[in-house]
Formats: sequence, C-alpha cells, structure tokens
Amino acid sequence: MSEQQTAQQLISQLNNQELSSRELVQQCLDRITSVDDSVKAFLEVNSESALQQADAIDQKRSAGESVGPLTGIPIAIKDNICVEGWKTSCSSKMLENFTSVYDAHVIENLKSAGAVLIGRVNLDEFAMGSSCENSAFQKTANPWNTDCAPGGSSGGSAAAVAAGMVPLSIGSDTGGSIRQPAAFCGVVGMKPTYGRVSRYGLVAFASSLDQIGPFAKNVSDAALLLESLWGHDRRDSTSVDIPAPSLVNQIDQPLAGLKVGIVSEHYSDGLDDEVHQAIQSAKETYQAQGAEIHEVELPHAKCGVAAYYIIAPSEASSNLSRYDGIHYGHRASSEEKMSLEDLYERSRGEGFGPEVKRRIMLGAYALSSGYYDAYYLKALKVRRLIAEDYQKAFEKVDVILSPTSPSPAFKLGELVDDPLQMYLNDIYTIGANLAGIPGISIPAGLSSQGLPIGIQLLAPVYEEEKLLRAARMYEKEHEHSLAVPSL
Ligand code: GLN
Repeated sequence: MSEQQTAQQLISQLNNQELSSRELVQQCLDRITSVDDSVKAFLEVNSESALQQADAIDQKRSAGESVGPLTGIPIAIKDNICVEGWKTSCSSKMLENFTSVYDAHVIENLKSAGAVLIGRVNLDEFAMGSSCENSAFQKTANPWNTDCAPGGSSGGSAAAVAAGMVPLSIGSDTGGSIRQPAAFCGVVGMKPTYGRVSRYGLVAFASSLDQIGPFAKNVSDAALLLESLWGHDRRDSTSVDIPAPSLVNQIDQPLAGLKVGIVSEHYSDGLDDEVHQAIQSAKETYQAQGAEIHEVELPHAKCGVAAYYIIAPSEASSNLSRYDGIHYGHRASSEEKMSLEDLYERSRGEGFGPEVKRRIMLGAYALSSGYYDAYYLKALKVRRLIAEDYQKAFEKVDVILSPTSPSPAFKLGELVDDPLQMYLNDIYTIGANLAGIPGISIPAGLSSQGLPIGIQLLAPVYEEEKLLRAARMYEKEHEHSLAVPSL
C-alpha cells in the first residue's frame, strides 16, 4: 500500500489477488511502526488479531467464497466505540481498565463487511475537545506538521488516515469532532444525519447530538464506508427505519441544476484569509460546472456555540453520572474507611480530567433548579431557531458551502489554557449537530504554511446521497485528496 492508495484501489487489488490481506495488514502495521512514534494516533494496535483476520480472509478468497464490500481493508476505531474483548478507554483514566463485552452496531456491521479492525485510536477525553490534547494518555500530532494539533475530538482517526497508517477509520461527531479533524489533517470526514447510524455501543457524550461517521482519503471511500455503517438498529431508539440509498454507484453523477448556498454571516472577522480564499475558489469550481450560487441567511448561527455549550454539557453531566466507581469506572482506593459519598467524590475526582470536570459542572449548573429555564430551556429554544434557519435555507438551495473551521490547524498548546477560544473553533460545525443535518469536510488545498484547509458542505436531513455527490463534484476537479504529508 502506498500512502496515496484509496480503499477502493486496494479492494480491487485484493479482489484481483494482486495483493493478499496479510500483505496489506502487514504494510499498515509497518507504516504504524515507522511513523506512529511521531504521530501518536494509536492507543493500541492489535497486530496479532489483525493478521489472524487477514489470514482467514485470504483463505476465504482463495476458496472462492463470496466476501463483503470491505473485505481485507484495515480500519482504525475511535476509542469510544465498543469492540468486544478490546479496551474502550474514551482516553480517560475513568475507563482505563474497562474491556468491552459486546460489539457496537457499527462494529458488527464492519465485521460482516469484512473490514480488518487494526486498533483503537486517540481522542479528547470522552470526545470533549477540539485538539486531542484532552486525552489522558497521549497527545496526537498533526501528520502535516507535528507541532500542530490534529483537531479533535477524533484526532487519532483523522491522523491515522492522513499519515497513511490505515485507508479508513471511524469517529464520532457531537459538535464537529469528525469534520474539524478531517479539515486539519487533509482527509474527508462526514457526519451523517442524526439517526442514520446507530449509536448502540458508542459511549454517550451528548445523546441528542452524537453521530458516528467515516474518515477516508476521498469522497468515494467515505461513501463506501458509510454504506457499511448505516442501517436501522432497534437497540438505538433514535435509529431511523428508512431505506438507505446506494451511494458509491451514484457518486460520479454530477447534480444537474445544483444550487449552492453561501452564508453571508460566515465571512466576518475571525475567518482566516486563506480559508476564505478556499471558499471563493470552491464557489468558482461549482459555477464552472453549471451550479448556481445563492446567498442564504442563518441569522441564529451566531448563537450556536453558546447554545451548544449549554446543551452538550447538560447531557454530558447526566450521561457521565454513571461513572462513580461503583456502577462504572475507576474506583478510588478505599483502604481507610470512608462514606459512599466520599468514595464517589474521590473516584470521580481521580478519574476525570479537567475539561470533563468543567463540562460536568457547566451542565449540572445549567440543569439545576432556578437556572434550568434561564439556560437549558433557552438553549433548546435557540436550537429550534437554528434548525428552522437551515430548513428555510434549504427551501432555496440544495447544499450549503462553508468553512469547516475558522483556520487551519493551530499549534499544540496554543489554545489549551483558553477554553473559550477552543470552543469558538466549533463555530461552523456545531449548527449541523444542533439541526441534525448531515455534513462533510473535504480537503481544499494547503495553506502557505503547508497545512491542510478543509471546506464543509451541509445538506438537508437524509440527503447524504446529494451531499456526497456535490462533494465529489468539487473533488474531481482538484487533486487535493491525493496530497500526503511527508513524515
Ligand atoms: N469540540 C466540540 C466539543 O468539545 C465537539 C466535540 C465532538 O464533536 N465530540 O464539545
């Protein structure tokens, strides 16, 4: 495998028996050995079980048995998604010693599609963050410049694909955690519509926002992976039971009469010039293909960060209450006699890192009696207005084009002591989670500093096919997806 090769190219080599699964897995393992000391994307690599899976696949192929769509393709798993028999740490001391006893729905799907699960990758603790620096275990670096952050929270998933260690990975997106690291690392990352992919087996952060989605080198591979991830699952009550269109077959069909929306509110102070430039040139790319560009308004978008940072922490404070050292998670040593309450306090105090504690406190405050109406309820009302803004915009246009993040990757350490600046990084991605709509980040070239720039497309609920085809229209006019960092 060369670092440029896409999953689909590898699949055809595997099918033509020009490459065996064992060879491919071994190539990924070798690449991990040679570059992951500097990138630190992986928390654990399961070499032996990956090679065993590969051998079983090679036997199946040579026996002429039929194989699934991802058969033999190595994939990395964000460490907040349960794989039976694997640790699932959420990059938290709280779950450092937790081993999953079942597979998440998406893992069952990946296994039946024939993917080879190669290891678990780093994230911000419990998926809270935008730089991967909130991991309790290691700081992942951006493969394009190891002084820079890979983005977060799915920074390990993005960096592993960008550095050519795996052709595919999966992550989760609550406020931008797939799209922003994809933009920072120069790969494709997509958040499907809320309800499209089952979260059964995803450790919950904010349940009304969380979605699982794919990372890949190009749009077509992201579509291929999504086809394996989605589908109805009765174990997640938000999972929708509607037909899933076939994506890869349609991906190269340009959309005739495509209407692309541009949001005037997006181009204010705080947006990096080169990111702005990338949007301008994407506009021209679409126009050259006959698309119409229309201005749309999202008047409440500016309240998105404020609403999200009430709603997400509120849900997190409730979801994380189970980690008390008795029901779940790290238990403080209790040699001396202490009350149950002290044990809870000590266990949670030792198990959670500072950002998670900050979120729990924010959430508990916003939900407390006397403040519930002023904060939580108000944030829910703002959320509805934001969702209505998108609905109105989509009466005029098919997709909305926007930045993924206000700037290319920032330096590691640059924002860790300034949570507000860190939160503002999510300004362009949060809207899609609040409104439940699908979004994708695609590579749009490199900055003058040699760092990737990502652009984002958003579409109405359940319009993943349109979203991916529109993304492909841009991608096929450029070579950006083929760029790889020299490590
Ligand atoms: N950066 C956002 C946060 O810290 C989004 C995280 C996510 O999508 N999981 O909450």
